[in-house]
Amino acid sequence: MNVPALNRIDGERARRDIFAPDFREEPYWWTAAMPEDTDGAASGYLPAKADVVVVGAGITGIVAAIHLARSGLDVVVLDSQRIGEGAARRNAGFIGRTLKRSVGWLTKRSGREHALGVYRELDRALKGVESFVREEQIECFHRTCGRFIGANSEAHLRGLVDDLEDMRQALGFEYQMVQPKDVRSEIASDRYHGGAVIPDLGSIHPGLYHKGLVDRAKTAGVRFYGRTTVNAIERQGDKHSVRTSAGDIVAGHVVITTNGYTSADLKWYARRVIPFSGFILATEVLPEDLIERVLPKRRTYLDTKVNIDFIRPAPDSSRILFGGMTGTKSTSALPLAAPLHERLVGILPDLKGVRLSRAWTGFCAGTFDFMPHIGREANVHFALGYNFAGIPIGTHFGMLLANRILERGDTRSVFDTDRFPTFPFYRGNPWFVPMAMRYFDWHDRRIARE
Ligand SMILES: Cc1cc2nc3c(=O)[nH]c(=O)nc-3n(C[C@H](O)[C@H](O)[C@H](O)COP(=O)(O)OP(=O)(O)OC[C@H]3O[C@@H](n4cnc5c(N)ncnc54)[C@H](O)[C@@H]3O)c2cc1C
Repeated sequence: MNVPALNRIDGERARRDIFAPDFREEPYWWTAAMPEDTDGAASGYLPAKADVVVVGAGITGIVAAIHLARSGLDVVVLDSQRIGEGAARRNAGFIGRTLKRSVGWLTKRSGREHALGVYRELDRALKGVESFVREEQIECFHRTCGRFIGANSEAHLRGLVDDLEDMRQALGFEYQMVQPKDVRSEIASDRYHGGAVIPDLGSIHPGLYHKGLVDRAKTAGVRFYGRTTVNAIERQGDKHSVRTSAGDIVAGHVVITTNGYTSADLKWYARRVIPFSGFILATEVLPEDLIERVLPKRRTYLDTKVNIDFIRPAPDSSRILFGGMTGTKSTSALPLAAPLHERLVGILPDLKGVRLSRAWTGFCAGTFDFMPHIGREANVHFALGYNFAGIPIGTHFGMLLANRILERGDTRSVFDTDRFPTFPFYRGNPWFVPMAMRYFDWHDRRIARE
């Protein structure tokens, strides 16, 4: 046997050794909250009309549907997949005031007042999801666990502290700096040059959160139709004809909440969102003392790169979840399991030899201006483009969309859009994403050298 053949066999064996016997390529969250086939999908029957048709059964669409149905409207939710098969039950469950643009960056671009307004609304969204979970009594392991942000270099640490201090002074968002010598009190890693803890950020079990939303929507009378793709929306006087793979439905109002899964048929929207693939691993069940050693405070953890690596303990079992390599061109998480596992062990060497029980992927939605958008196009309401942080802002926008249709209460948003940028010739095929991620990696290395 020659050497290359031996290397191939060793490589194969190493790859196989990272998978636990119960490994499945499926979101970990689905163990507790499997996507649902709905009555509508089973019967194939679509009603002829509804007061409101919501396209996309993620967090945003269902929160809107709950508020609308409780106000007495007849609401139908359509989704091209099973209910809960989108990002809502695939994400990492971090809850924050997250935006890819800092207060400083926004201040330079659009003025101090706008920059502070953006972060005030992100804070409202964060508090909104917390109070919504509490008021609705959704059992989804919500915890204000705090977030540790590890600095990937001394220059990154300076930038991080500048941003956090700016927000503390202007907006009162507290943080605690973590000196390089104290990093191990937060995470068993030598990767970081210090960092910071933001104590009021949280986490949830996203599968159970979304399932809780679906259950409450059904109780409010919302009808769900999975495996039903909306192909076109046409104006019919003061109503809309929604053309779907299961027939047409006439609606008084239409709401588009399709985010990273926006299909090409929804042209105006598909031209404005950039689908990015995210990838997450879940380890096998680990000894409690190992988790205690590596993540002693059981927070959420990420770093200061644009293309972050992120870590959290599972809320309902003793496993660790890890994500990274966002934007890599792959329709499956399987080819990335080995490099991601290697990355995880690089950050947490104590996990050497730990195997994986799940790996999965899902689509987030970037936008050309890195901002989420809510608005109205051709009399159709929309909210999408969350740039990797849709749990709080999706919940918040869902409530705003409902209020706009009901013409009541809180309707205003700093993210209200009269300009939702696209790019010439862009039709929804994000061929440039891997290149953009390589640019961000180069950019992060450049800052690290400063
Ligand atoms: C791997 C990963 C990790 C993430 N981590 C976090 C995190 O930690 N914290 C956080 O806040 N956010 C995170 N996000 C982002 C968050 O999950 C999303 O922003 C949010 O779930 C998306 O909005 P949504 O729930 O409203 O829509 P989704 O759940 O994405 O649902 C959109 C739905 O629209 C449907 N659809 C599309 N086109 C059509 C059509 N033509 N007809 C009918 N239906 C259609 C799709 O089938 C899909 O189910 C993450 C996302 C991913 C993928």
